[in-house]
Amino acid sequence: MQNKWILVTGGSRGIGRATVMRLAKDWNVVFTWQNSEMESTELEQACAGLPGSVEGHQCDGRDEQAVAALSAALLARLGAPHAVVHNAGITLDALHIHQTSENWRKVMDTNLNAIFYWNQHLLEPMMLQGGGSVVMMSSVTGIKGNSGQTAYAATKAAMIGVSRTLSIELGRFGVRVNCLLPGYIRTEILDTVPKDVLSGIRKTIPLKRFGQPEEVAGAVSWLVSDDSAYMTGQTLVLDGGLSA
Ligand code: NDP
Repeated sequence: MQNKWILVTGGSRGIGRATVMRLAKDWNVVFTWQNSEMESTELEQACAGLPGSVEGHQCDGRDEQAVAALSAALLARLGAPHAVVHNAGITLDALHIHQTSENWRKVMDTNLNAIFYWNQHLLEPMMLQGGGSVVMMSSVTGIKGNSGQTAYAATKAAMIGVSRTLSIELGRFGVRVNCLLPGYIRTEILDTVPKDVLSGIRKTIPLKRFGQPEEVAGAVSWLVSDDSAYMTGQTLVLDGGLSA
């Protein structure tokens, strides 16, 4: 058990939830949520027996002031984080010509701008402490197009660009930055896709199944650990072979 803490944004459900539970076996974890208060309280309770402490905070990543306030409070109480997992994300799908500017901006604000807000406060303390790990939850959609997802794909591809560039800027401070690119993972995000479409997609996946949130959480756990100490600026694809 490491007496250091890790921030997971969007930890209340899906991949974030599984990640919080996995990381709390080795680290103290702070997670954020936006709407899911009940699920967040339940998650804190579910983690009560694990070695690491787990605490959830409501914080809309699109709200720059809220991110600044929570960052300042956490840094004052806990010091620099060992790792930041930028996981919070949404998709609001529509064919590009039908996409509304409101939804386009919402996806940009949630998936991309929030990362900038958090980084503005948390990266410098990590540099000053001499190391750490940043993990961005991108998507295979960031490297392989998917009809209806131009906004989502733009943010997920941008995350790859941000992490590669950051890895160059932060390498000499011992801070590593990597992207995870999951394919189709069994969470509520998949509930928005019609069943017959999902069944068609499953057939195209070499492993013939969707991934589990715990399988992504395992990769996050590796990326924040010293087992991946020589890896930075990279993308790790977890898609059952979909993009092979
Ligand atoms: P879920 O919809 O299950 O969970 C999304 C999480 O993000 C929730 O905890 C939600 O909080 C949080 N969130 C959403 N908007 C905000 C916001 N403005 N501020 C703070 N938190 C927010 O998604 P998944 O677990 O499926 O996805 C997690 C990440 O993985 C996303 O970035 C997604 O793009 C990526 N991904 C997912 C794949 C999949 O197939 N599932 C594939 C590839 C990538 P709340 O519960 O309070 O709303």
